[in-house]
Amino acid sequence: MKAVRYLGPKQPFRLEDVPTPEPGPGEVRVRIRAAGMCHTELHFESGLLNLGVAPLTMGHEIAGEIDRVGRGVDGARVRQRVLVYYYSGCGECEWCRTGQENLCGSLRAEYGFFNDGGYAEYIVVPERNAVALPDGVSLEDAAPIGCGVTTAVHACSLASVGKGDVVVVYGVGAVGFGLIQVARLREARVIGVGRSTTKLELARELGAGDVVNAREEPDVGSAVRRLTGGRGADVVFELVATRDTMAHATAMLAKRGRLVFVGYSEDDYHVHPIQLVINEATVSGSVGNTMEELREAIALVADGKVRTLVDRTIPLSQWEDGLTALREGRLLGRVVLEP
Ligand SMILES: [Zn+2]
Ligand SMILES: [Zn+2]
Repeated sequence: MKAVRYLGPKQPFRLEDVPTPEPGPGEVRVRIRAAGMCHTELHFESGLLNLGVAPLTMGHEIAGEIDRVGRGVDGARVRQRVLVYYYSGCGECEWCRTGQENLCGSLRAEYGFFNDGGYAEYIVVPERNAVALPDGVSLEDAAPIGCGVTTAVHACSLASVGKGDVVVVYGVGAVGFGLIQVARLREARVIGVGRSTTKLELARELGAGDVVNAREEPDVGSAVRRLTGGRGADVVFELVATRDTMAHATAMLAKRGRLVFVGYSEDDYHVHPIQLVINEATVSGSVGNTMEELREAIALVADGKVRTLVDRTIPLSQWEDGLTALREGRLLGRVVLEP
């Protein structure tokens, strides 16, 4: 089968022929129909994220149909439409036992990170990782749920986003659009920050009550203070995380404000503790999502409460165009590959 492969840090991906995987006991094989392209893939390519496993098929937003099942799996699942949960935990550690596989230190698999992912025609995963999709959700719309929407659900829950909170979504890309919608569902007041007028318009459409265009108002910290009558933000989701944006994100925190890193760049985070001390501010990170949050994200999309945004759908063979568009930040939502 065809697969887009990561060959190591700072090397371009390559479309290769690889053996089609066969499902073992307790596993299913998914014929992939839609694979979302995430910013993470750019971090692999640049070498910023180096997990030491190569070659490796990229992609962790994976939707398709089960086409074959291994021993012990109900044959009725063949042809079922599914979304892949990309973590497979050890099942025994303190995190797995509480359903938080995203923090498992002994993962059996993490598709698209340590194990072959979705930029391919087929993937084999444990039966429980292939989560059934409701009829109303197309596979193209489902793929971006896998990381884009689930990351937003997890981050909002981690930051305890609640009614009346001022939430700043710093960076309006695919995950940012998910965060705006999920924060609105939790009845927060959302401020979107970005540099593209088109993306900021979409941010408004999705529920951001205010937006700050960082090109026009470079002092984003002060802009958020002004918009909140001096109070600042209860929660800031950092999706850009450059030296400059991190300084603004910290400066805009309200008393007991929570700064949550969802994205990262090459830059380090520098802060003088006094900035955190006097506001009793908290800084944390958010990674991935639980299986339960994946189910929640699917339900939100199926019920029409959250929209996934697909900028374009292209054949697997055109992955380079997708990656280029992603790198240049020209997208309104995800690029979805159709293997
Ligand atoms: Zn992702
Ligand atoms: Zn575990």
